[in-house]
Amino acid sequence: MRIPIGSLIRLGLSISENVAEYQKGVNEKTRAARARDEAIAETNKYNRSRLEDQIARESISVECPNCGSTGNRIRRGSTGFCQFCGTAIQVGFNGEIQFHKPEIERDGDQ
Ligand SMILES: [Zn+2]
Repeated sequence: MRIPIGSLIRLGLSISENVAEYQKGVNEKTRAARARDEAIAETNKYNRSRLEDQIARESISVECPNCGSTGNRIRRGSTGFCQFCGTAIQVGFNGEIQFHKPEIERDGDQ
């Protein structure tokens, strides 16, 4: 059986087109994946800076009753420690502050 040369050429062109189409699809997928990764990275960056803002907003400045230092910033709803004397400072979500002095051993206590 003889296949006309014209048919062979058309077949060859058709295969080339398919390969080109396939390659285009792969490139588009790669581009899309890269764009998605960039978008995720951008979102993560945005979320982190928002979280930093939120922590700064929710932190309050507390003067330590034990040593009088004013350099302590503690987030609402958390417990921090005076950076100078170690007194535990608990800040409620409503901003209420409680102090827990370090345990001191006293003579005569039972
Ligand atoms: Zn202190």
